Amino acid sequence: MGFIVQKYGGTSVGTIERIKNVARRVARTRSEGHGVVVVLSAMAGETDRLINLAHAVSESPSAREYDVVVSTGEQVTIGLLSIALEDMGLRAKSLLGHQLRIVTDSRFGSARIERIDTARIKDELSKGFILVVAGFQGVDKEGNITTLGRGGSDTTAVALAAALGADLCEIYTDVEGVYTTDPGICADARKLKKISYDEMLEMASLGAKVLQTRSVEFAKKYAVPVMVKSSFTDAEGTLVCKEDADMEKVMVSGVTYNKNEAKISVLRVPDRPGVAAKLFRPLTEAGINVDMIVQNISHDAHTDLTFTVARGDYKKAMALVKGTAKDIAAGDVAGDTNIAKVSIVGAGMRSHAGVASMMFDTFAREGINIQMISTTEIKISCVIDVKYTELAVRVLHDAFALGKEEVAEER
Ligand code: ASP
Ligand code: MG
Repeated sequence: MGFIVQKYGGTSVGTIERIKNVARRVARTRSEGHGVVVVLSAMAGETDRLINLAHAVSESPSAREYDVVVSTGEQVTIGLLSIALEDMGLRAKSLLGHQLRIVTDSRFGSARIERIDTARIKDELSKGFILVVAGFQGVDKEGNITTLGRGGSDTTAVALAAALGADLCEIYTDVEGVYTTDPGICADARKLKKISYDEMLEMASLGAKVLQTRSVEFAKKYAVPVMVKSSFTDAEGTLVCKEDADMEKVMVSGVTYNKNEAKISVLRVPDRPGVAAKLFRPLTEAGINVDMIVQNISHDAHTDLTFTVARGDYKKAMALVKGTAKDIAAGDVAGDTNIAKVSIVGAGMRSHAGVASMMFDTFAREGINIQMISTTEIKISCVIDVKYTELAVRVLHDAFALGKEEVAEER
């Protein structure tokens, strides 16, 4: 017997039938003797609809009122699930962020959880209620409603699990877990039994959209074991947990890709202190995140500088960089939106040599040109021409023996 926080995503509560299905799952967990707190998202598509409503009224709705509107989707689902549970003869109670008191900072639209008051929830649990909590929302110190950013109910669930000292946080979604790569691209992608927090963070930030990145950071910080699984089947999911010896045995755990970036190159940048700072400061001030940066060694006191930004920021970034390039007497600015970032991730890289050269050899064999490279301890990313993305993913998946048949040691 344990204490579990279960979070169900938008597709899992997307229809009345599915909400009833969730109620049956929650009831089953309860009848197995576990304590359970449920966290819900809004019905699939609902948050998008609410965002559109806010923008239909005004081009630039105030941040406070925007959050008042977009947080309402979760109020509907927690009420409906509580009704479904009561209909099954169970005692359930829904709680909004401000009722529980999930206290956040005041950054509307992307607030961070600062503290969760557990007194109310513990009291209700001790009275035997199944608690159904609204994900994605909180309240700031002034009592304003806040939201945590898209996908934020994952973070609500993990934060609650941490605050309540839960044994497990289960994240129910429409896939059965975390895969070695996108099954839509690679038919023999395999579901992982477990993955470390750090690997999951790399996968999440690289575009594998199973969990909100911030929820994984939270899980790591408070060592909350997170199980990602499907609400539609009884298949075993993927456990996101602390790194263990098994994880180091394999060189690479997964292959990811991201087609959402664009590349900007500034040519003939004068090579002297302060130039990079000058180039990037306007981007920072405009709220544009820079991902990969490569600077070449300099020739006759000039160097080339290439970096990537999110594709949505490309136009704005180009305009800013062109302006700065003039100011610092650099050469041309060239841009390319036809790129993709393909990456391999694995805790095993820490202890295996030759992972990078295996990746590069694999690309060379297929005639795929590498435009940029960046690495962390457990990740290697290459920027390539976008038209080779699928091929690159498949050949890497093969080269590192990630497929269903090849793997001798199941993980
Ligand atoms: N409903 C919110 C969204 O669509 C939060 C979530 O689903 O986690 O982003
Ligand atoms: Mg989600």
